[in-house]
Amino acid sequence: MDLETTWSELFKSFESEPEFKCIDCYSCRFVKNLLLSKELFTDSEIQQYNRINVEHSTLYRSSGNIVLHVVISSKCRQKNDVHCIVKLAKKEEPVSLLELRKIDSSLKWEALLCNVMHLFSDDIFPKFHFVDVGENNNQPIIILEDLTKRGYKPLKYKLSEQYLERCMILLAVFHANTFRLQKKNDVLFSTLCELWKRNDEYIIKQRKEQIRAFLESSIMTTLDDTLKKRIKQKLKKVECLKTEIASTIIHGCFTRSKVFMKDDIKYGFGIGDIKLIDFDAIQYDSPSIDFGRIFLTNLPNEDNVSKLERYFCSMMDAYLERFKCTYPEMNSTLVKQEIIHNLILSYINLSYLEKGAISNHISILHMFNKIGSFD
Ligand SMILES: [Zn+2]
Repeated sequence: MDLETTWSELFKSFESEPEFKCIDCYSCRFVKNLLLSKELFTDSEIQQYNRINVEHSTLYRSSGNIVLHVVISSKCRQKNDVHCIVKLAKKEEPVSLLELRKIDSSLKWEALLCNVMHLFSDDIFPKFHFVDVGENNNQPIIILEDLTKRGYKPLKYKLSEQYLERCMILLAVFHANTFRLQKKNDVLFSTLCELWKRNDEYIIKQRKEQIRAFLESSIMTTLDDTLKKRIKQKLKKVECLKTEIASTIIHGCFTRSKVFMKDDIKYGFGIGDIKLIDFDAIQYDSPSIDFGRIFLTNLPNEDNVSKLERYFCSMMDAYLERFKCTYPEMNSTLVKQEIIHNLILSYINLSYLEKGAISNHISILHMFNKIGSFD
């Protein structure tokens, strides 16, 4: 696609100069060029639009990528404006897929997932208008719908029990589908699984670093000797991947900011009311990493271990119930064991900021012990 030529050609059909809100911003300029190219609109369609506005989005947050909100205005009053979200890689992406295997997150991961989204049994994704994986030295580009235009809103604040439960249901649908597709041996999905799998050597190295940081943290020094000993023993097993029971393709960064929900749910919550975004950290790993991240970062600041345990059990029940409905052929007890036995892994996997927002660390670790996480 020769963007420069397409840009100058098609730009002539626009009445006014578009406004560049971001002076000299490469990404905004690039996206305008791309949207005006023939890849997205036919010539007759482009004639109907006369203005394009690009802004950096704050709603669709993505750590590794540039996210832009685009509005294409129509000449004709009867026709609605087009709103979309464009994602570009912030950093230079690896050129070859082989190189890609070594890295943690990439816009390419998300672009690749788009190829298999139709294989999922439930519609939990936004609509993707345009996806370029970025082959032949190109950078990947993704254009998706702006979910807010269909009444979805991002989850910004610490979740209530009801909202956390809904996120657990969404997660169960995602995991159940990735388990099902693996088992089904779909050729396309299997190929992608191979890419999303990082080698054991890499995972062990990464876990060793996280475990070392945790063992040196102030939290460890405040624990009683019995619990400290149990955690250390467990971490040894986690480090050598001995706790793996049922791994699958996971989201990799399942936080509330990656979930959009309809805010006018009148007749009971359905899976169509919730959407999952941002798949640049997708990987083959323990589902506990996703479960633990959304759970721990939305857990009430409660020091009563029994209350925390009850909270965990109710979230686990919501997750498993939906998991069984979505993929009844899978032994859900195995998934439950996998999540419980790797909860400490999800805990040490939290970011510095996420850990900082938690104030009941000691109670959480005691709760893990109570539910059998360190057995
Ligand atoms: Zn810009």
